[in-house]
Amino acid sequence: MKRKIITHARILTLNAGMDIIPDGTLVIEDGRIKAITTGGWNAAGEEAEITDVAGMFVLPGWVNTHTHLPMTLFRGYADDLPLHKWLTEHIFPAEARWVTEEHVRLAVRLALVEMIKSGTTCFNDMYFYEQAIAEEAARAGMRGVVGESLIDFPTPDFQTLSQGIALSETLAERWQGHPLIHPAVCAHSPYTCSAETLQTAKRLADRLGVRLQIHLAETRREVDECLARTGKTPAAYLHSLGLLDKNVVAAHGVWLNAEDIRLVADTGTALAHCPKSNLKLASGIARVSAYLQAGIPVGIGTDGAASNNSLDMVEEMRFAALLAKGAFQEPEALDAATALRMATVGGAKALGLETEIGSLEVGKSADLIVVHAEASNMLPVYNEYAAIVYAMNSKNILSTMVGGEWLMKNRQLLTLDKDTIVEEMKALGARIKK
Ligand SMILES: [Zn+2]
Repeated sequence: MKRKIITHARILTLNAGMDIIPDGTLVIEDGRIKAITTGGWNAAGEEAEITDVAGMFVLPGWVNTHTHLPMTLFRGYADDLPLHKWLTEHIFPAEARWVTEEHVRLAVRLALVEMIKSGTTCFNDMYFYEQAIAEEAARAGMRGVVGESLIDFPTPDFQTLSQGIALSETLAERWQGHPLIHPAVCAHSPYTCSAETLQTAKRLADRLGVRLQIHLAETRREVDECLARTGKTPAAYLHSLGLLDKNVVAAHGVWLNAEDIRLVADTGTALAHCPKSNLKLASGIARVSAYLQAGIPVGIGTDGAASNNSLDMVEEMRFAALLAKGAFQEPEALDAATALRMATVGGAKALGLETEIGSLEVGKSADLIVVHAEASNMLPVYNEYAAIVYAMNSKNILSTMVGGEWLMKNRQLLTLDKDTIVEEMKALGARIKK
């Protein structure tokens, strides 16, 4: 692979010291950051691809810590409903009818277009047909954590739990060690999985040495029903079953009480904060500043496009920052730099990938974005983090790189045929709407 040099960049490293290099060069070799230097680059006589990004920010791409990519299939299919009704009366029946491997592949390709164009360089997915999802992501050059959603009723791609376990094992066997695809095990939630299913999933994740993903304390109803059924909150219930530890990432955590927060923090469990999905399904607003203060690793996730209705992490990061202030009247609750860390290195840590991605440091994978920092909606830039979190929109992202490969350069997608994907999804959407 030819060396890639990105020069004259304003580099936001997101390293531990939050170093910013006003005019720097990134040297990328074999997909990894080989060097970060100050000043321009003398490329005389060198076999390298040089990209001059004068006046632009270069920073790590977004880590979408919780999503269900194929749900782009149901974007706008059922809106303005509470979670339980939305899920049981609309989404589950639509999934039973329309979720096939072919449709999943198309929906994922559409999701990949949206993610690459909005700067996401890693996603954490829980759904069905994850083998196909992994293949589509790898083909497009995208990084992803993938796990088959284990649940106590028949799904589009497995009928029994043992079949679901077998799919999870095959997924792990095939992708473990792959440079871009990181297998995981998923238990859908404490309210859709029996205690036995939850523990079986956790044992499998531990045996395979992968992350366990789960939904946790998303709605007040979930907490009330769990208390009535088990005498415990969802977090305490999962803890009693051995499901909370540093290899677990739990989505939402909207309704965690003080004792739950302590449990999550003490066990090292990570959270995926999904503010827009929680707002749209009227689930509530997670008190994310309290989670950070307790020392919980927190990333940001979009959740599926059926409950968001986008996969745009720029919007998600801004919602996280603004809600943390407005909902609790605490202007200092989540400053711009902290929100940006959650969307990058925080997500990487939640997924156990912090030595590989999340910041721009020598030795890490070159997963990064180039932002047009001189766009009219961003000038003047007094503070880089404020410009990104409060002023930028995803169209200001010019280029996206994963593992040293450009997936988008100057707004041109390089690994996906967007026009064909759009036409195919238009046709499929018309069939589903009938
Ligand atoms: Zn979810």
